[in-house]
Amino acid sequence: MKKIAIYGKGGIGKSTTVSNISAAMAEMGKTVLQIGCDPKADSTRNLTGGKNIPTVLDILRDQGDAELEDFVVKSSTGVLCVEAGGPVPGIGCAGRGIITAFEKLEELEAYDTYRPDVVLYDVLGDVVCGGFAMPIRGGYADEVCIVTSGEMMSLYAASNIAHAVKSFGSRGYASLRGLILNSKNIELEEELVKKAASEIDAPILYRLPRDGAVQQAEAEGKTVIEALPDSDMAEHYRSLARLLLEGGLEDE
Ligand code: ATP
Ligand code: MG
Repeated sequence: MKKIAIYGKGGIGKSTTVSNISAAMAEMGKTVLQIGCDPKADSTRNLTGGKNIPTVLDILRDQGDAELEDFVVKSSTGVLCVEAGGPVPGIGCAGRGIITAFEKLEELEAYDTYRPDVVLYDVLGDVVCGGFAMPIRGGYADEVCIVTSGEMMSLYAASNIAHAVKSFGSRGYASLRGLILNSKNIELEEELVKKAASEIDAPILYRLPRDGAVQQAEAEGKTVIEALPDSDMAEHYRSLARLLLEGGLEDE
């Protein structure tokens, strides 16, 4: 079982990237479990017809307890989708919600039940503390990838996440695999990201172009893989998915 956490600044394109990678891996015959670790609970939205699925926390709150079937939703592309969820705004800590959800998944033996080939965690990386650090330090993820553009704030978040991974890394937790450049088409973007990558001593794994196919698919509540399987963007997501499964870099 390969366990990869995808971090990045809010709004940078984590959920879009993770959902498309999941769908691409499922297309390759892999059993994929995607776990959204964002209180907004919209990580898997484009896998489930543009609708949010019930979250682990919502179900626990409403029913007092939960069964796996209550919150593991299989998408039309075959991806197993889970949303950790978050507390009622103003009450409780968002990170704590993620910890509760992770504990529930373990208690209900989700990993033994579904035996996924790949687990992908989609994690908001603006604050790498509490529950948001769980995939790194709780033994959940083996590898961390960071989605970034050339924008300063997303590079700043990438640097923070990289430092968090490295400070836990020496204790045998997840290691930093590299950066995924999700282009915003800003000036000198590649150079800016290359410089940041060398500063944090991590490779750029892949460069995803900015492509209207993403919005077109999103309007249908779908991934690009499902809505526009023959598009260039779908091919990019497939290449990135293969690379994450097999190792290596785009340029190799
Ligand atoms: P949040 O932190 O709020 O969860 P996120 O990092 O998960 O955000 P997404 O929701 O995946 O970000 O993406 C934000 C928006 O950017 C989406 O509406 C999507 O349409 C757009 N987007 C992401 N990647 C691309 C791309 N490569 N080309 C074009 N549009 C993109
Ligand atoms: Mg998201």
